[in-house]
Amino acid sequence: MGYSDVRETDICEADVVVVGAGSAGAALAARLSEDASRRVLLIEAGQDTAPGEVPADIRNIFPAAYINSDYFWPGLATSFRKGEAPVPFLQPRVMGGGSSVMGMIALRGLPSDFDAWEQMGAPTGVGATCCRPSRP
Ligand SMILES: Cc1cc2nc3c(=O)[nH]c(=O)nc-3n(C[C@H](O)[C@H](O)[C@H](O)COP(=O)(O)OP(=O)(O)OC[C@H]3O[C@@H](n4cnc5c(N)ncnc54)[C@H](O)[C@@H]3O)c2cc1C
Repeated sequence: MGYSDVRETDICEADVVVVGAGSAGAALAARLSEDASRRVLLIEAGQDTAPGEVPADIRNIFPAAYINSDYFWPGLATSFRKGEAPVPFLQPRVMGGGSSVMGMIALRGLPSDFDAWEQMGAPTGVGATCCRPSRP
């Protein structure tokens, strides 16, 4: 549901309100709503892309949506290092969030990072041995 469609009664009647229908929020809302007795309200600031109405640039296997400013929060910029000139900072604002606009690039994490998180106190089992891919 988009912001303009949200009524106060929708919020009052919901058991759970999920703000942001991005990669995490949409999946979370879907899982939570598998229990038919639970009323889940999913709110997305960007445009909806209902089944059967997903725009062609989002459906494109190439990251065509990446260059469509309609799917991003306007005016965001950041500097990666102190003193550097700000550059555009793309943050998605559309149903599906980043998963609707991303490049589908998958990078394998560094084993040393996984081990370091475990050593810093993350639950046992997130180390590199656990996260190693099962196939080469
Ligand atoms: C241009 C781009 C390319 C990328 N390419 C890749 C890639 O190739 N491979 C890869 O693995 N990852 C990629 N990523 C990263 C990946 O998409 C993100 O890590 C992932 O989508 C983050 O998921 P998320 O649920 O945390 O947030 P998001 O997917 O960003 O979702 C957040 C959602 O919440 C909404 N929202 C925020 N505030 C509010 C509010 N107050 N009210 C209502 N709604 C709100 C936003 O509109 C957005 O839809 C890319 C990201 C971008 C932006």
